[in-house]
Amino acid sequence: MTAPRPLIAGNWKMNGLAASLDEARAVAAAIDERPPGARVAICPPATLISRLAEAIGGTGVEIGGQDCRAEQAGAFTGDVAAEMLADAGATLVILGHSERRAGYGETDALVAAKAGAAHRAGLEPIVCVGETLAEREAGRTLEIVTGQVRGSLPEILAGKAFSVAYEPVWAIGTGLTPTLEQIEEVHVAIRAVLVEMFAEHGKGVAILYGGSVKPSNASEILKLKDVGGALVGGASLKAADFLGIIEAA
Ligand code: PEP
Repeated sequence: MTAPRPLIAGNWKMNGLAASLDEARAVAAAIDERPPGARVAICPPATLISRLAEAIGGTGVEIGGQDCRAEQAGAFTGDVAAEMLADAGATLVILGHSERRAGYGETDALVAAKAGAAHRAGLEPIVCVGETLAEREAGRTLEIVTGQVRGSLPEILAGKAFSVAYEPVWAIGTGLTPTLEQIEEVHVAIRAVLVEMFAEHGKGVAILYGGSVKPSNASEILKLKDVGGALVGGASLKAADFLGIIEAA
């Protein structure tokens, strides 16, 4: 079967005001001029989704949210429903990022409920998994990561578009990256679980790597077996850096 186009998704986290739209415009202009081999997405803060959709809608850059609530509507002050992200112009949503798992106590079950909500709203979820440094040092990486994959992906995603992002918690925003062998080992293990859960469909699900990806290391990481793209934090904030990663894909 032919592999899907890799996905390079930028996670702006809680960064970005209206002025940052210029960075996204620069990315959109560059990829429209020279269409890359990869799909490209930018996930800005929720406040910028509709303005980003106005600024770059119809270009080759897709737009994603960074989280959603599982419920469709209700008394959940401060939260955003998947339907609201879609209404604002998003087509993807990052779920279960380690900053949410650690900071808000998000469990696999909650992430799975959110992934179901994303599906309900027509959004493509990017479901994040990854071990802490203590878990890696205890030799528990594969157990932790495969457990998160099993627990965070609801059955309803069978046959639907979604991706998994392997993001070692200790590599996020630190400049540290696992060795290429360590990345590949985890991706191959995730692939096996995806095939177990989703059979043929699991063979084609993109497994992104995330954690200190930059233009200088993107190429070697993106060539690895079962690496189907990248989830990029810090290096997605500047168009030049993000484009360097996109070009490596
Ligand atoms: C992330 O937060 O998803 C991420 C990968 O961050 P960074 O690229 O900055 O490590």
